[in-house]
Amino acid sequence: MANTLNDCKVSASERLMDYEEHYGAHNYHPLPVVLSKGKGVFVWDVEGKRYFDFLSSYSAVNQGHCHPRIVKVLKEQADELCLTSRAFYSEALCEYEKFMHEYFGYDRILPMNTGAEGVETALKLARRWGAVKKGIPNDKIKIICCGGNFHGRTVTVITMSDDPSSYAQYGPLTPGFVRVPYNNIEALREALDQYGDEVCAFIAEPIQGEAGVFVPDDGYLKRCFDLCHEHNVLFIADEVQTGIARTGRMLCSEHDGIRPDIVVLGKALGGGVLPVSACLADDEIMLNIQPGEHGSTFGGFPLAARVAMEALKVVKDEHLVENAERMGRLFREEISKINSPFIKQVRGRGLLNAIVTEPVAGKTAWDICIRMMEKGLLAKPTHDHIIRFAPPLVINEEQLREAIGIIRETFEEMTA
Ligand SMILES: *Cc1c(COP(=O)(O)O)cnc(C)c1O
Repeated sequence: MANTLNDCKVSASERLMDYEEHYGAHNYHPLPVVLSKGKGVFVWDVEGKRYFDFLSSYSAVNQGHCHPRIVKVLKEQADELCLTSRAFYSEALCEYEKFMHEYFGYDRILPMNTGAEGVETALKLARRWGAVKKGIPNDKIKIICCGGNFHGRTVTVITMSDDPSSYAQYGPLTPGFVRVPYNNIEALREALDQYGDEVCAFIAEPIQGEAGVFVPDDGYLKRCFDLCHEHNVLFIADEVQTGIARTGRMLCSEHDGIRPDIVVLGKALGGGVLPVSACLADDEIMLNIQPGEHGSTFGGFPLAARVAMEALKVVKDEHLVENAERMGRLFREEISKINSPFIKQVRGRGLLNAIVTEPVAGKTAWDICIRMMEKGLLAKPTHDHIIRFAPPLVINEEQLREAIGIIRETFEEMTA
């Protein structure tokens, strides 16, 4: 990128992107658009151009940008009390704990901030349960994870990844993981037979979002869940991306009719305004961790507690589960009608969908996303050739049809 730091003829966007180019770590490769405003399903760039947001910050903005109810609660609580740490009780956290118990039906919540921390917490809960309840020696304990997973970016969490761009040259990694291919029940059976007594948990995403919205076969999760229980192994569902109405169910695990032993939530739990994550589990798992044995300064802070409760109330009051299911069907139906050599497959559940593309005449998914951006819709390729489409769940039919129009025109123009 040319150095435009002192050039007054460049646009605001170019100047700002140059700041990041020069002063930010290069740990992301964003589309060249600089956003400064959002409302519902739309975002605006610094030049005032409007876009459909079809990424929703990787499903952290399920309730739509700057939802008035969530922002109101955020502001009100900010004026009252923001942070207490867990050295003292806070009114907001106590209410949040009871609320979450009633909302999701688990005995208890362990509140954290980011998704990766939520996953770390689930791994610690599982290891502790394995040590206390199953009597597995600490140096033997194992957790089974899946090929193609994405659970976050901390060192232990990237240990589970089989994507070199996640783990390479960050070693030494954390021992105690066994990886099996996703969507392969026999592989899990073999791993459990081989390591059974030493395994405390199996962790999976109900749909692999970062892997490109990879949807496993119907019943796969149910069979994993049953197999785990036959071996006295905990089933951990990482619902950070799939949870909170995204796939047309409150939790994606419901598609398979299972109730995971530990659920990890994040992203949309923060209503698109704060990082809020949590582990949900019952007493037998949760109560093995005693005071002082795990925590986070900000975990469950009053601001987060109020925001999370409002974010979840909005999901129910605005029927976002039902809307995600209905709009998702419409999306896949209409996108499947597009006749383009770029499109290999359309897949997903609810409003977590993807188009698997194939390069044509040297044009790739990145070029398609650039063209969609120019036409007013933001989506981002994952793994080079897959484009994820995940708008805020508040999208209505008219907006969705307009967005589908942009996507259709883009594919038609790309081959014209
Ligand atoms: C995004 C994501 C995470 C990590 O969440 P962060 O808040 O980025 O740490 C973990 N698991 C899944 C399935 C995710 O999609």
